[in-house]
Amino acid sequence: MKNKVLGIIGGGQLGRMIALSASHLGVKSYVFDPSNNSPAFDIASKIFNYKYDDIEAIKKFSESVDSVVYEFENIPINTAKIVESICPLRPSAKVLEISQDRLIEKEFLSNIAKVKTADFRNCPTIQDLESALKDFNYSAILKTRRFGYDGKGQIKINNNINPEEVWKTLEGHELILEKFIPFKRELSIILARSEDGKTEIYDCVQNKHKNHILDETIAPAPNLDIKVEEKSKHIALRVAKALKLIGLLAVEMFEMHDGNIIVNEIAPRPHNSGHWTMDGCVTSQFEQSVRAAIGWPLGSSKRNYDIVMKNLVGNEIELFNSYINEPNYKVYLYGKKEVRDGRKMGHINRIIKKNSNTYEFKS
Ligand code: ADP
Ligand code: MG
Repeated sequence: MKNKVLGIIGGGQLGRMIALSASHLGVKSYVFDPSNNSPAFDIASKIFNYKYDDIEAIKKFSESVDSVVYEFENIPINTAKIVESICPLRPSAKVLEISQDRLIEKEFLSNIAKVKTADFRNCPTIQDLESALKDFNYSAILKTRRFGYDGKGQIKINNNINPEEVWKTLEGHELILEKFIPFKRELSIILARSEDGKTEIYDCVQNKHKNHILDETIAPAPNLDIKVEEKSKHIALRVAKALKLIGLLAVEMFEMHDGNIIVNEIAPRPHNSGHWTMDGCVTSQFEQSVRAAIGWPLGSSKRNYDIVMKNLVGNEIELFNSYINEPNYKVYLYGKKEVRDGRKMGHINRIIKKNSNTYEFKS
């Protein structure tokens, strides 16, 4: 059997965990990232330390691997298209193009996938912003169309806001205004789809944020109404199908007080809210992404344990001392050289017997 080589664009913790999973299947990883101390470089068989728009480097990289995945959405679309002209890119450049721009993504979700999203308005000018604010009764969130993550590039709007001031704060970016959604809680679902259209879908989980950064994922989502769970899975599958997805997809959703589900955003890659699958499921989200990319059958996404996943953000990395020797807690560190505020340094999975109705991270 010829050993496969997976190309990974982006060498952060997600790229690192994809590479680790690839290694369990005897698949080598070549990692492409412009930063010279990327966490995934420690794991890679070969590193490509070039800028994402270095066409010659991206061509060489694509020619040296069997297929390519990416760990984040902000890759130049031209780069993705070049990769795709040489080898399979999973998910496709088309999916990347949709998910890297909130306006295109929301239009796709509501018009093509036909799932519910927050009401939204494109705001190319301040006049558009002013009229959109009126439409939404000044209860809204202004977001940059591109490059936002962990709540960055977002301003929550309220009644006494001065449109000129918020416009100035985000000036120079293309903007979208979203109606504020008074949700009950945040849920997400991860699924994988293979070349032959087979899907594996993980259980719906609840996400809790701190300072706009994911703090905890509770898997499965506590006390989730069976009908709401079915609805959320149905929606995730519908989006994947509309995208003609091959690869991994995360769907962030809002659960409403009346049981309705509204899609917040999608990510065509492993997602922080899927780290629980590393200890909760037969096949982790990372392995699933490798399998889908390489063209192998997907693994089972069956849940064997309930998990509470706690992110170690910034100084929280020190928590690892308290848990490193605790039974039922699995500690992961990403090998980042410098601790910074708001930086994801690692995570811990609390492993809980299935269906024991335990939703806390602390025992
Ligand atoms: P990011 O790329 O930063 O994750 P999101 O669009 O997911 O961007 O927004 C970050 C968080 O802000 C969400 O997880 C949610 O808590 C809140 N949020 C985003 N959009 C809305 C909205 N329309 N209404 C209410 N809350 C929102
Ligand atoms: Mg989000």
